[in-house]
Amino acid sequence: MKVKKRNNKQLEEFNLAKIITAVSKAYASCNEKISKIVIRELELIPTRHNDDDVLKVEDIQNKVESILMHLAPYDVAKSYILYREKHKESRLVKERIDYMNKYSNSSDNASTSSETDSNANVSLKNVANLEGEVYKTTNRIIQRQRMKDKLNELYPNENLGEQYLEDLNNHIIYVHDEASTPVLKPYCMAVTLYPLMMDGVGNIDGVTPSAPNDISSFSGQVTNLTFLLSSQCKGAVAFGDYFVALNYYVIKEFGELWYEKLDCISTSEHHLVNRTIRDAIEKGMKQFIWGVNQPAGNRSYNSPFTNVSWYDKYYFKSLFEDFYYPDGTQPKWEAIDTLQRMFMKLMREIRLIKPITFPVTTMALVHNDKEYLDKDYKELCAEEWAKGGSFFCYNSNNPSSLASCCRVLNEMSDNTFSSTTGMTGIMTGSCNVITLNLNRIIQDFVNSIKDQFEFHKEILKDNLPLPKNPDDLDYKEIVLYRNQIMKLFPKYLVNILKRVYRYHIAYKTMLYDLEDKGMLAASNGGYIYMKKLYSTIGVLGYTEAAQFLGLEISNNKEYKKFLQLILGTIKEENKAYSIRNSKRPFLFNSEAVPGEGLGVKFYNWDKQDGYKVPEDQNLYNCYFYNPWVDNTSILDKMKLHGKDVSKALSGGQAAHLNLDTHLSKEQYLKLLDVAKNEGCNYFTFNIPMSECNDCHHIVNAPIKECPVCHSNNISYYTRIIGYLVKVDNWSKDRQIEFKQRKFYH
Ligand SMILES: [Zn+2]
Repeated sequence: MKVKKRNNKQLEEFNLAKIITAVSKAYASCNEKISKIVIRELELIPTRHNDDDVLKVEDIQNKVESILMHLAPYDVAKSYILYREKHKESRLVKERIDYMNKYSNSSDNASTSSETDSNANVSLKNVANLEGEVYKTTNRIIQRQRMKDKLNELYPNENLGEQYLEDLNNHIIYVHDEASTPVLKPYCMAVTLYPLMMDGVGNIDGVTPSAPNDISSFSGQVTNLTFLLSSQCKGAVAFGDYFVALNYYVIKEFGELWYEKLDCISTSEHHLVNRTIRDAIEKGMKQFIWGVNQPAGNRSYNSPFTNVSWYDKYYFKSLFEDFYYPDGTQPKWEAIDTLQRMFMKLMREIRLIKPITFPVTTMALVHNDKEYLDKDYKELCAEEWAKGGSFFCYNSNNPSSLASCCRVLNEMSDNTFSSTTGMTGIMTGSCNVITLNLNRIIQDFVNSIKDQFEFHKEILKDNLPLPKNPDDLDYKEIVLYRNQIMKLFPKYLVNILKRVYRYHIAYKTMLYDLEDKGMLAASNGGYIYMKKLYSTIGVLGYTEAAQFLGLEISNNKEYKKFLQLILGTIKEENKAYSIRNSKRPFLFNSEAVPGEGLGVKFYNWDKQDGYKVPEDQNLYNCYFYNPWVDNTSILDKMKLHGKDVSKALSGGQAAHLNLDTHLSKEQYLKLLDVAKNEGCNYFTFNIPMSECNDCHHIVNAPIKECPVCHSNNISYYTRIIGYLVKVDNWSKDRQIEFKQRKFYH
């Protein structure tokens, strides 16, 4: 009999002497001597096993414990149990100290050194992010126990708590940012700034005495608010009405028609430097932009993930037509338009000083299927891209698709768009994200039907030959029987979904309870309510699942049919299982998640467990096209992210169109039309930026040599997933992926 050591690697021979010593110590601590009967029982342990049997240290200790409980005095058994506990505790402490030392000593960046849920949104490694890392494993244990208890309470006698753990351990599902905190928090939220305008940030920080009254106090408070709200959730905080709110304070300082006086001097003869109204507004914007890129202590030194949106005239009208400021006035389009244009230009210019990450910006444009309604904004969008601006574009023929604000109350609409990275609505978001590992799920399914009568009946019905050996469906056969597999798959998927909805309900029920107890500051302050947040079904591993079925990842009918089948099934079920209760609604949406770290995890887990994974990748793809091959044109990528597929995803998926150079305004205008025609409603162009590591000159494009000092020591910035960040900060695996990414020209 062999014994497996705790590090899971070494095996050693069973050593009776070691056990007798430990047990004797337990006896000695009670002033007793080990009895002969106990020794004989201990000697019998190996005789009950074969020579090749492998037992864990824990198993043997359990046996010893049970022998002592039966045969030794109570005090001795207790002493042995305490001795085990004490050792367990010191092992945990030692293991954590070792990890902290390893983290500090390693030259890897913070993302690579992270044990779990790594994130490239942290540029410096220090005690603050190490502190966040140390407890992640404990956080996960607490979160899982809490979920298990709640599931068993809500659904007694169904063993759902155990099933939840099993699904997580089998890597069929993944709960996002599960380990980031031991407490319950919603995932991400697009809030309204109305409470800030009414009361100031004081209603959630308990300090600030009044609402802002000028540009500077607004900019300070909204920056504080970003940090406060980010401490109340795990992911992004979005301000869809940032410009509307800012305008209120510009008016307070410079009057209603401020936008006609931008170049007027606003300083007096006592100022040493003269500044215009434009300068004063820009100063406020800069305060916010630089502010939100600061590392947050409560987020392990990550900057808070922040979004703002620009709306064209029609979106603005749809969202804010009935909006009134606290003083009873209304925002004017000319003012918002001016602020948005100033901000776009400013972001573009600041990124040439420092390629900052936040806020993630989105331009929302309305069309009527034939043309974009606001031609000026279409032009502006193309022009900004051509000048090197980097932002998302969301376009839709339904201006209410972004609205979940108090006015429109339209969140029940199928078109409501709410993505966890590019949130561009108001009063929406996600309270929890559980992602399905579709590659593993489809392979589990194929394994499960091999010997099923129903499957063979389908095959016979279509006059196909029966598999040679049903226990070993080979790859050729999987491709041959693909249609049959796909016909039967939705039923299997729905069974998993049914469980996941209940996992979501358990989590959200706990959030509702917490909200009722006044524990969620964002709700207390009136910024967002739990009922507005979706429970999100994420998907990942879909291109790998398609490859497993022998499909080519390109703009072809069969592959699109596959995506529609999977995403369409999820969409239908989301609708069917949503609970539209007015007090405590449970609404589900779906999103092809970016999977910054998860793409790597799913890939590695599946590979280790013997599932088929593409050998020429090191992580799972998070686009509908393959970003690592040359054969998909920009047009095909837009088609793959077009209406056929994207209409099945309420949370969307951003197409990242990787280019190695900027296009002209005319080219971007054409691509905007392609996006509209194809129904590619959410996308961005991703052109790497370069920073010379010697003279710190920044160029808006990927370069090999610095034009100023001719150094070849260049760092790149590009969108890892939704957000722009320095490649040097990416995890090791993501850096490999960056090298394989194809950038077009
Ligand atoms: Zn240089």
